[in-house]
Amino acid sequence: MNLHEYQAKQLLATYGIAVPTGHAVKSVDEALAAADKLSTNGWVVKAQVHAGGRGKAGGVKLVSDKKQLAEEARRLLHTSLVTCQTDAKGQPINELLVEETCEIEQELYLGVVVDRETKKIVVMASTEGGVEIEEVAAKRPEKILRAIIDPLLGVLPYQARDLGFGLGLTPNQIKQLTKILLGLGKMFIEKDISLLEINPLVITRQGDLLCLDCKINIDDNSLYRQQELGAIRDETQDDEREIKAREWELNYIA
Ligand code: ADP
Ligand code: MG
Repeated sequence: MNLHEYQAKQLLATYGIAVPTGHAVKSVDEALAAADKLSTNGWVVKAQVHAGGRGKAGGVKLVSDKKQLAEEARRLLHTSLVTCQTDAKGQPINELLVEETCEIEQELYLGVVVDRETKKIVVMASTEGGVEIEEVAAKRPEKILRAIIDPLLGVLPYQARDLGFGLGLTPNQIKQLTKILLGLGKMFIEKDISLLEINPLVITRQGDLLCLDCKINIDDNSLYRQQELGAIRDETQDDEREIKAREWELNYIA
């Protein structure tokens, strides 16, 4: 099961991980009201669909005033977004995330996955953020740093520091990265996550780390004990095969 970006960011925030302040909205009026609650002069409007590659497909827009905000919200809501990760029909846009902008100095990548071979968790980090990690893996595999995490111990501080040095971060940024990675490791295990990506993790103009995008997949087999997460599933994003499979489970297994 996938989470929306705004749901994933709410989860990150509960683990003390820095994300931009933002609000999920379902109408132009709600988008305008959300902007009033934010402290920046401009905002980012982001289509909430279960697919990446939204930026290049016109699903992430920076706006500098309310007129632009209303225009972009109207343009996006109740349409479909076709990205390099969707089929030709695209994914329906029923919600937008309106969030604070930040000035980006550098875009980094963080990922956490389960490695089936070692039965351990692998944290990946790269200075090549903002692009598809598959592309980095294919063209410049040496740019992806890895740490193997024991699921019983979580991320250890020395592993986070190692990755931070490898990314060329300053001592203060390494401290921030350590907090992020320890939180991500804990969250990954506690919430039965099967895949997590923060792309990009940015270094802001002020030199701080901030998670600008987040993708989370929850292991479907764990939903019996992750009922809070199961309850926020957005079925409008599921394709027909997923819906059929779930009906089958409800009818024949439950
Ligand atoms: P996707 O991965 O689906 O294209 P992202 O959330 O990664 O969507 O957004 C695409 C790009 O838009 C980011 O790489 C970043 O450069 C920019 N961006 C996203 N959110 C913000 C934000 N809050 N402030 C400034 N720029 C942003
Ligand atoms: Mg992204």
